[in-house]
This record gives sequence, C-alpha cells and structure tokens, in this order.
Amino acid sequence: MAAIAGSGGSGDGRQVIGHSVDDRALVARSWGDAGSQRRVLVVGSIHGDETEGRRIVARLTGRRAERLDGVELWTLETANPDGVAAGTRGNAHGVDLNRNFPRGWRAIPRDSGYYSGPGPASEPETRALRRFLRRLRPEITIYYHQPWGRTLIPCDRRGRRVALRYARLSGLAARDCFPSPPGSATGWQGHRAKQRAFVVELPGRALRDREVRRHAAAVAEIAEPG
Ligand SMILES: [Zn+2]
Repeated sequence: MAAIAGSGGSGDGRQVIGHSVDDRALVARSWGDAGSQRRVLVVGSIHGDETEGRRIVARLTGRRAERLDGVELWTLETANPDGVAAGTRGNAHGVDLNRNFPRGWRAIPRDSGYYSGPGPASEPETRALRRFLRRLRPEITIYYHQPWGRTLIPCDRRGRRVALRYARLSGLAARDCFPSPPGSATGWQGHRAKQRAFVVELPGRALRDREVRRHAAAVAEIAEPG
C-alpha cells in the first residue's frame, strides 16, 4: 500500500502509527508482498498484561514473513505500550482500550476493571489504531488476548469462516458466535469499517514453543490468499 509504505520514510516497512499517553511509539511493521491489494494485520496485544501474543508476532517476523505470497502482512507488537511497560490491562490513564472505540461505546466505571474512558476514542492509542485501520483497510485482523484459551468466533458469516479456520489450524478451540464487547476494536471494525476482525484468547500461561510456532503458521496460512 503505497500511501502507508511511502510515509514511513525508511523503506523497511516500519511505521510509527502514533504515540501513547506517555509518548511511547506504536510501531507497525510490514512483511511479504509490499503493495499487495490483500492486507492482513496482527495485533500482539491491546491489554498490557496479556503478553503471550507478542511471541507469536515475533515468530511471524523474519524469513517466513518475507516469503509470504500474495499478501502484505502487518504486525503491531502492541497497541498499548504503556500498559505493557507497566504490566497493566489499561493504558497510562487506566483506560481499557478495547472498551474505548466509538462503536457501541458506553460509560463503564473505573472500578469495574474495564474502564471505558471519559468518552469514545478519548485515548491517543485508540485514535492511532483507528486511523491506521482506516488507512490500511485490512482484509483480516487478528487480536491476541488472554486468558480464556479459545478462538472467539464472530457471529457474522464472513468473519465466522476465517476465525473457524484459524481455530482449526491453530488447535485453539472455537467459542462460537461471541459478540464484540461495547467499545471494542473488533466491534468498530466489523460495523463501521466492514472489516473482518476476530479475537484469539490465548491461555493464561506461557505458550510452549511449539504452540507459538503453530499459531504463527496458522496466521501465515489464513493470510495468504487461496
Ligand atoms: Zn484482553
């Protein structure tokens, strides 16, 4: 995607898509066929204390990712670098970024553990990710979370098919027809942007190396066309 690749400047597919409350960069990277019409995005974490997905993202980089055919794969190690640094679910304002998106946003109090922020898209991380999604328009987006140990299958037909395929390939059991929470990234993408997006809830423990490899292989498999 010329507009995306061109604005990075360095030409290595690395893109700063915005900054956190504490001014940490949100860094996206691209792999595979640069300029392909088919784009797939993988987000390692949006909740800072759910870090196993980042291992899958790390596994997706390098030689296998460079070999990807017919797809431009984008990885965002985390949408919440402040939360990762602090080991917290929310960002530096204590906001749950996956309740801060405008679609279906509602006020959820701080003490619930799912604080939705003072208003829709109040947080810089939410706005950065939304801006990036609008520009990139990924065919498929995968978000890693923990700790349920289930692939969450969206209720709509298009999203359902690809998520079920991911569940089969990764070996992470499906939980069928799981509605997007209010203010979530997947909810916003499905309704506002008509994009297929789903959540992979990894187990609440460290993944074994072979599990990391199998998840990365599942991403590569669904990312490539065919
Ligand atoms: Zn989560």
